[in-house]
Amino acid sequence: MPRVTVYFTQNCPYCRMVKAFLEKHGVDYRAIDVGADRNAANEMVEVSGQSGVPVTIVDDEVVIGFNAQRLNEIFGTSKKGELHDVLIVGAGPAGLTAGVYCERKMLNTVIVSENIGGQALESWAIENYMGFRMVTGDELMKKFEEQVRSGNIHMELDRILALGRKDGTFIATTASGTEYIARSVILAQGKRPKKLGVADEERYLGRGLSVCST
Ligand SMILES: Cc1cc2nc3c(=O)[nH]c(=O)nc-3n(C[C@H](O)[C@H](O)[C@H](O)COP(=O)(O)OP(=O)(O)OC[C@H]3O[C@@H](n4cnc5c(N)ncnc54)[C@H](O)[C@@H]3O)c2cc1C
Repeated sequence: MPRVTVYFTQNCPYCRMVKAFLEKHGVDYRAIDVGADRNAANEMVEVSGQSGVPVTIVDDEVVIGFNAQRLNEIFGTSKKGELHDVLIVGAGPAGLTAGVYCERKMLNTVIVSENIGGQALESWAIENYMGFRMVTGDELMKKFEEQVRSGNIHMELDRILALGRKDGTFIATTASGTEYIARSVILAQGKRPKKLGVADEERYLGRGLSVCST
């Protein structure tokens, strides 16, 4: 097994995803909280040439961010050939909820997503989601993830690139080259807001300019 070190901070969702990935694949690693250790933060900048987290060191290789494709190449195992009842694309609120209900019906379910939590991770305050007066998107998605992980649902961090049909089943291919075969597919990959295309839109988004579906 390679020597693995993860530099992380407490409130970084992508750091959590790297750690969840390594744990799921049975990889032993050393975790260093750079938010609590200035020397470690300097060490990370020196090794990676930048200051963003997470940074994962695998022997001599530096992996910056949550790079599902690279981590799968290093640690992943091919699921080729296994037939699932349901493949869910996306682990935002919709995909995670669908996963819980598929499991309740005892369906052999796999969720494949680039991240866990989707757009809700970007929301710093969700108000009046029943049971919570106010909760951050990150906290709420942690709860969703815990609920999914407590059940018998496979969750893989990867990007679906192609989806086709063969002999009555769906075949999905991912960025890491893994193939998933399923009887049915739930597409829960979310939507991104349509931009107006006006000057300085990106600059003012979140600074007075906002998007909302209601
Ligand atoms: C800044 C911000 C604040 C918000 N605040 C609120 C709020 O206060 N209250 C509220 O109710 N809503 C809020 N929303 C909206 C809410 O987050 C979305 O409605 C919700 O996340 C949609 O859930 P979803 O599961 O349908 O899609 P998403 O959350 O978009 O999740 C889609 C998932 O699919 C994955 N995915 C996409 N394509 C692929 C692919 N090809 N392969 C693998 N995975 C893929 C993505 O990585 C993601 O994990 C906010 C959104 C934003 C951006």
